[in-house]
Amino acid sequence: MHVDERQRLPRRWFGGRRLQGQRLKQSPATAFIAVVLAVVVLAGSQPAEAFLDAILGGLEESIGASVHQQLVQEHGVVRISEANQRYLERILHDLVAVSNRQDVTYRLTVLNAREVNAFAAPGGYLYVTLPFLRFVESTEELAGVLGHEIAHVDRKHGINSLQRELGTALVLQLLFGRADSKTLDTIVSIVMARIRSGWSQEQEFEADEYGARFAAAAGYGVDGLMTFLKRMQAAYGGSDDDLLARWFSTHPPTGDRIRRLESLKGTLKTAPRAEPIPPLPKNW
Ligand SMILES: [Zn+2]
Repeated sequence: MHVDERQRLPRRWFGGRRLQGQRLKQSPATAFIAVVLAVVVLAGSQPAEAFLDAILGGLEESIGASVHQQLVQEHGVVRISEANQRYLERILHDLVAVSNRQDVTYRLTVLNAREVNAFAAPGGYLYVTLPFLRFVESTEELAGVLGHEIAHVDRKHGINSLQRELGTALVLQLLFGRADSKTLDTIVSIVMARIRSGWSQEQEFEADEYGARFAAAAGYGVDGLMTFLKRMQAAYGGSDDDLLARWFSTHPPTGDRIRRLESLKGTLKTAPRAEPIPPLPKNW
């Protein structure tokens, strides 16, 4: 039995709207604006770029809502206890509070997948699997990995990849010019492929760096992600398991990530916390 945990979390994480299955609206006016914008942006105008950012922010949310629907259908959502739910919300809240994009509504879903994994979709949709929660050994590790996933959204890796893959003008034209459910489905399938095959190495390193910054600023320290990566490598590095092998193939070499985090460590100060770090729940 699976329950969509969004119904169980406080309203602040999700806003008042039901987002699942939301489709983009279109009109001739928006189509016209989009084409004009695309031309202006290509000419390099800064105000137009800010306006474009606002439009792309809305686009991220729509893409994320559709990706969420697919992932939930594919894996199912795990029901966790109220206490564990509050624990996850607490860590997420602390990390989001020190991140850069306060316009994003972050929400975390526990997926019923077989592999140890965590990932992010555009618009603030974050996922961990039940085996991941069971593999984690400390709150610092959990905060480190969640920081990395928040950073993918914070640095707009999803939308940037789409822009790079399709071109800004084409994305806008597709979405506002001839937007229908098929168009959004095409874009969603591209994002799903990126989630499965991984973001670029450059984006993964950036997510490590920003994730470590968020974890340090939230008082969780910068060792969590490093410890997690070292344990993943030790436990599954030479694994023949397809699903775990995929985790390693979709990220830059783990040794490189650890080395970069080690060198970053000296430059980051862990902020003091008003309250102690909550202990990791024993049962998931
Ligand atoms: Zn990543």
